Amino acid sequence: MDYLMLVGRFEPIPEGFEAALKLRSVQGKLFEMQTAAALERMLESARSEGVFIKVISGYRSQEHQQMLWEKDISMLMAQGAGYKEAVKEVGRTLALPGFSEHHTGLAADLGTPGDDDVSYTFTRSIQAKWLECNAHKYGFILRYPRLKEHITGIDFEPWHYRYVGVESAVMIRKSGICLEEFLDFYQDKYLFITNRE
Ligand SMILES: [Zn+2]
Repeated sequence: MDYLMLVGRFEPIPEGFEAALKLRSVQGKLFEMQTAAALERMLESARSEGVFIKVISGYRSQEHQQMLWEKDISMLMAQGAGYKEAVKEVGRTLALPGFSEHHTGLAADLGTPGDDDVSYTFTRSIQAKWLECNAHKYGFILRYPRLKEHITGIDFEPWHYRYVGVESAVMIRKSGICLEEFLDFYQDKYLFITNRE
């Protein structure tokens, strides 16, 4: 498993990837095995400090993503939106089937115990604050931060965490960069330094 794999707006999930993916459940949602173990450790640690974090979404198949698209588009069209308008609106917060990081099993949408869906109000919660301070220690990064929208191609999402492994997560957190920047610049430099030794 490549824990630094890039799947996003411009990078579809590789063909055959999902068929080989081994998954395990955390709070009833599915995650790649090592991601599930790390997520459990993180949630347990938060809980021991009195912070209860709810898992809202984990692995999603391309078929599931397709269903979410169709549901949201028909809902907007029922409210009077044209097809193109509905596609544009849904595309602001939902990736196209095949282009969602949730297909990797490495991504988690998190919330407060009262949340049934992801929400921007999560930003102000103690759960979000706890994650901002601690997620990297368990190998998770806030995948779509503010001010990086032009690089990730995705609006700020306070709820979406991505497993990359502890070492990479700590480096990404310390340098204040996003995964794309880490892959483009920092990792090359890092490899160059380690190769020289
Ligand atoms: Zn998400």
